[in-house]
Amino acid sequence: MRITKVDTIIVRVPLGQQRFLSSQCAFPERNSLLVRVETDEGIHGWGEGGQYGPPEPVASCINHVLVPLITGKNPLDHGRISLELYAATRDYGQKGPYIEALSAIDIALWDIAGQALGVPVSRLLGGAFRDSVPSYATGCYYRGGNHLDHRSTLAGLAEEAKSYREAGFRMLKMKVGLLRVEDDWERVAAVREAIGPECTLLVDANHAYNAMTAVHMARGLERHNVRWFEEPVPPEDREGYRRVRNSTSVPIAGGECEYTRYGFRDLITRGCVDIAQPDLCVAGGFSEWQRIVALADSFGVWTVPHVWGSGVALAAALHALAALPPFPHTAHPVPMQNEPVIEFDRNYNPLRDDLLEDPIRCVGGSVAIPAGPGLGIRVREDVLEHYANAAPMAARGAEC
Ligand code: CA
Repeated sequence: MRITKVDTIIVRVPLGQQRFLSSQCAFPERNSLLVRVETDEGIHGWGEGGQYGPPEPVASCINHVLVPLITGKNPLDHGRISLELYAATRDYGQKGPYIEALSAIDIALWDIAGQALGVPVSRLLGGAFRDSVPSYATGCYYRGGNHLDHRSTLAGLAEEAKSYREAGFRMLKMKVGLLRVEDDWERVAAVREAIGPECTLLVDANHAYNAMTAVHMARGLERHNVRWFEEPVPPEDREGYRRVRNSTSVPIAGGECEYTRYGFRDLITRGCVDIAQPDLCVAGGFSEWQRIVALADSFGVWTVPHVWGSGVALAAALHALAALPPFPHTAHPVPMQNEPVIEFDRNYNPLRDDLLEDPIRCVGGSVAIPAGPGLGIRVREDVLEHYANAAPMAARGAEC
């Protein structure tokens, strides 16, 4: 089997009144860079590259640099191709769009390999430990134009948190970091009260703080039984991560902005995180995922993937999670203790909800792993066409 053709497709959805903010930026649109890899045997595979950033640079890396390197290769050699693409672009790649481009291609090649062999990607990864994964809702961002008057938004925030609980979620991740620590503590308290003591609460700062402020924030989180504090400090600040982790009983998570096993080597060996969060579409696809998981496990660090993006990204994460062993093996694995969980973004995104023929849904707090060969998905061409090549909205940071 040979790779004959690679298409990059940029899809985007303007959010209008549905726009939301993290500590770093406003989100005026959702977008994804999808890749379709075709072969001479009639099988094609889907991949996705990148997460928050503009998709055009990733598409450019694929179209101008990587496609000539993989055309004519056998997609079953996905591990070799992953290493060769990294080596070929090392001098100017290593992080950023090149690795996101490599991720998209790698995911598509695993999709092809699974279809060619008639098995799901989870089996190619070594076999599934589960056919569904408990999921946590990602929501409770900053919304509207009045987020700086945070007290006026607490009731709406509590309502949103309750809605996830009523939809069956037993785990929720909320945002902090845009406001003063004391104001965000009030938001955390409002969400904890809304969801009750039984529901697991995770908190994500999107690297808003320096270590000193993050330590202060963590003290308040300890009072609300927060089960992880995500991206407390910028990803480059390894010493700050270590300092925060050593200063609080709240587990520290991070890694969605990190690339390849080399990036995670530094995060893990310097004691930065309890939970490593590679994103399949960012850190290097399935091939690199396996290398990161082995590295993290050998240091006693749990790997739980970050997920954003379209239904393709979600399907890829589900297969990776299916094959992730309990951490550690134990007679009765418990979600969030040693049984992995999947991030399920609840912000408006038809690229996640409508792009697949069989949409991925959360039922009773869990998400089923797609069962078919490869990624087990069929992409709806009509939806793809509808959202393809729309003009980009204003720069993400412009409204913050
Ligand atoms: Ca995050």
